[in-house]
Amino acid sequence: MREMLKAALPQADERALERFEIYARLLLQWNQRMNLTAITDPEEVARKHFLDSLGAQGHIQPGQKVIDVGTGAGFPGVPLLILHPDMELTLADSLQKRLTFLDTLLQELGLKATLVHGRAEELGQNRLYRETFDLALSRAVASLPVLLELTTPFIKVGGTAIAYKGDATEEMKAAKSAAFLLHVKLKEEPLSSKVGKRCLVLAQKTAPTPAAYPRKPGTPNKKPL
Ligand code: SAM
Repeated sequence: MREMLKAALPQADERALERFEIYARLLLQWNQRMNLTAITDPEEVARKHFLDSLGAQGHIQPGQKVIDVGTGAGFPGVPLLILHPDMELTLADSLQKRLTFLDTLLQELGLKATLVHGRAEELGQNRLYRETFDLALSRAVASLPVLLELTTPFIKVGGTAIAYKGDATEEMKAAKSAAFLLHVKLKEEPLSSKVGKRCLVLAQKTAPTPAAYPRKPGTPNKKPL
């Protein structure tokens, strides 16, 4: 796994490569006790979790405030933090046991991030988090119209929500009215990937999110904008 990552990430130093190894080992160990990933082979973890998560690398600037919404076992936030330890990262998830894993993981990696337990619908209405981030990331959490409601309240005007997607053509069409209501401009950015078609959908915020959004827990999924 180390050789594969070294070839794919020429910018990664020895400390970063060591951290990816620790991450894969802990993930697979904890996965025997709790459901963290369907992937059980370390090389696959590197390809489908680590390298895929690093797809948004080009959007990370030093010192930026970044939130990963529905981070699960830390994707995409933690691989990005390994290569950019200077960003200010918040990892949010509604399942406490995933945050317990992340707490141990960050200690073992010697990295700092803020862990937040809660649903995005509630955190996005909390003044501590609302419109305070430069970037909101999400991977494999919901369809694009739902995700826009869950993620864009976290970003400042001028900030960007980035959703990791496969083929986003249909979701981009379905998300038009959500983008209008939430005051974001959508753009698709293809990713070069060895694991099928992958892209990033960038939602750039042009005006504050109306106070009504996000709606109460469950509503964005039940009645997408
Ligand atoms: N982002 C990770 C990845 O790419 O492997 C995890 C994906 S997992 C399929 C979805 C995660 O989103 C779960 O950990 C779940 O608890 C979290 N989640 C789903 N809906 C959420 C919500 N409304 N607020 C916060 N977390 C949520």
